[in-house]
Amino acid sequence: MAKLLEGKILAEKIKAELKASIKQLSKPPVLASIIVGDNCGSQSYVKIQAKLAQELGIDYKLCSLSPDIAEDELIDFILKLNQDPEVNGVILQSPLPLGIDYMRVCEFIQPEKDVEGMHPVNVGRMIFGRSRIAACTANAVMELLDSTGIDLYGKEAVVVGHSEVVGKPLAMMLLEKFATVTVCHIATSKADKLKIHVEGADILAVAVGSPGLIKGDWVKEGSIVIDVGINCLNDKVVGDVEFEAAAKRAAYITPVPGGVGPLTVMILMRNLVEAALAQESQARNK
Ligand code: NAP
Repeated sequence: MAKLLEGKILAEKIKAELKASIKQLSKPPVLASIIVGDNCGSQSYVKIQAKLAQELGIDYKLCSLSPDIAEDELIDFILKLNQDPEVNGVILQSPLPLGIDYMRVCEFIQPEKDVEGMHPVNVGRMIFGRSRIAACTANAVMELLDSTGIDLYGKEAVVVGHSEVVGKPLAMMLLEKFATVTVCHIATSKADKLKIHVEGADILAVAVGSPGLIKGDWVKEGSIVIDVGINCLNDKVVGDVEFEAAAKRAAYITPVPGGVGPLTVMILMRNLVEAALAQESQARNK
């Protein structure tokens, strides 16, 4: 039976480190969190952010904008936050209402304040292995893998899902650790090849949003399974992997909920604190 990789335990460790780092700052760091409209998932995510910010002594400013806002108005709003010296970090919740291009808008967040690591400059730095602020969820997956103590060098890593937010940055991070990385996506499934790739995975990370997509008996014996998916099914939150069957074969597996999720938000706060420390250091050296 697999050992559980519980993000909440790692998150508590990072939380203690963050409290110490925040004490080094001249003032509590300020996170501006933008939500456009009333998407249910985003509403619950901002509540989690606000609660954690309060526990850490972070000044959390929720900016709720109308779903009717035009893309250019949203960009103007972000530009004002960029110019506000009090604000250390900006996060834009997705999904945005139809007609607003998330990736385009993200490009207007100043890279130094982009605590989600979605700005092309930060993505580019990550590709060069020089990132200070890297994508939160992908980073959370890497922290979980690191906690196993298993060296990724030469391991077969399979990432299912190729989104800009999770799958692509995660593939780059695994490559940085010298894993042999395969990225599967919708075309892999349509070509009926998902099972073949999953069966060969020493490390399997799934970020799709499709409950039960990965059958438990596809999972390689002794592998590490990281299930990023969050799905509501019959009033329960489940991942993308058939948990019980997969847990019988894997060496390590993340539960859903309680796996990647709690760590993602902690890494968001870590990115904020690191951004604030860098900004203060830059201001001192001017
Ligand atoms: P997304 O942008 O919708 O991306 C989903 C990806 O899965 C896409 O690359 C899509 O390919 C691919 N896909 C769809 N159906 C597939 C199939 N049958 N077989 C293989 N690949 C398929 O979603 P996301 O933002 O990456 O999030 C993915 C999941 O992770 C969601 O459940 C989300 O709630 C969860 N999530 C969790 C956390 C956390 O902290 N735990 C954070 C972020 C997201 P195409 O685009 O080509 O169709």
